[in-house]
Amino acid sequence: MNHAESLAQYQAFKQQGLKLDMSRGKPAPEQLDLSLPLLDAVDGYKAADGTDTRNYGGAVGLPEARALFAEILDLPAAQVVVDGNSSLALMHDSIVFGLLYGVPGGSKPWGQQGQITFLCPVPGYDRHFAICEALGIKMINIPMSDAGPDMDLVEQLVKDDASIKGMWCVPKYSNPGGVVYSDEVVARLAAMQTAAPDFRIIWDDAYRVHHLSTEHVLVANLVDACAKAGNADRALVFASTSKITLAGAGLAALASSPANIAAWTRAVSTRTIGSDKVNQLRHVRFLKNKAGVEALMEKHRLILKPKFDVVLEQFEALLGGIEGVSWTYPKGGYFIDLLTPAGKARRTVELAKEAGITLTPAGAAFPYGKDPQDRHIRIAPSFPSLPEIKEAARGISLALRVAIGE
Ligand code: PMP
Repeated sequence: MNHAESLAQYQAFKQQGLKLDMSRGKPAPEQLDLSLPLLDAVDGYKAADGTDTRNYGGAVGLPEARALFAEILDLPAAQVVVDGNSSLALMHDSIVFGLLYGVPGGSKPWGQQGQITFLCPVPGYDRHFAICEALGIKMINIPMSDAGPDMDLVEQLVKDDASIKGMWCVPKYSNPGGVVYSDEVVARLAAMQTAAPDFRIIWDDAYRVHHLSTEHVLVANLVDACAKAGNADRALVFASTSKITLAGAGLAALASSPANIAAWTRAVSTRTIGSDKVNQLRHVRFLKNKAGVEALMEKHRLILKPKFDVVLEQFEALLGGIEGVSWTYPKGGYFIDLLTPAGKARRTVELAKEAGITLTPAGAAFPYGKDPQDRHIRIAPSFPSLPEIKEAARGISLALRVAIGE
């Protein structure tokens, strides 16, 4: 197809008057339907230890909810807190607590140490970067490979610069690149020397059980690796059931060393008299255990996989062989990262919008919304129906072909 033909097809596509929002990785209604039994899952309100879940109390979560996440995260329940409905909120609060009160091992709150910095593997999750931006934390881009962040660069930066207090990591099926951190990367993150004694890795395990293939990829246990390397307090692990049960009405968890959990528990007791234990109890009754979670995730996979496949098929048919264009083949998670030739991502997103397809803004996967090469477009195939997603992938491909020809 030459430029004139691409343009003609794009114009015809536009005439359809399609309206599709693919800007966020939201579960589709039929995925949410899988968890409808959750609404009736409460048979009584007493937890296993006799706690009346209807009343105040229990800021670290019900024992059985902590045990459920402990099994999923492969850590002791005593090192797991279940709180609220959003892991992002727990990440936000962990950083705010670090700024206000400091973290174990530090001499002063982060907020009293001048300008502090977080390392940001890119492309990454825009809401992580939004937290840093809102809280005045400087961000440094770290390039990603297929095995995780560029560890030579990370080690070199953290060794000399005590203002670097944190690093964002999505270790499995990363948003948006689908990257899985290798065992070597995990070991190096755990063992590296940091100038800051109060350095933390924000280990956002958002896609831990969200496989798209039948191969269930494993990532090494960072909390254990840090403990073995003599840096027990380095890792803060986060997870939620937002894309297991109900997005926005699920459970969120934080797991870490005993010292970090104690510090969290102290700090959080000023902001709540206890979280929603009724929701925790019904989640435990519905999900039961790790095997129950895995069985449910297989049902999600069967809904999601065809949507990813249809996008990949359209890309192969319409974009295959074009110089500078490539895309990821994720084994899990919620995104495909589409790479355009340099300087074409923003324009492609614009042309897609004109054709009725709303995408995540180009650049969103980078700190300050700036993709230095303007190459990445995050594709979120989960929400639209299969016929819609096929059309959308065709429209995006045509938009990119037009952008390249301009
Ligand atoms: N982390 C990552 C990497 C995500 O992609 C998302 C959702 N898009 C979240 C966290 C949000 O999780 P939660 O709903 O638990 O706040």
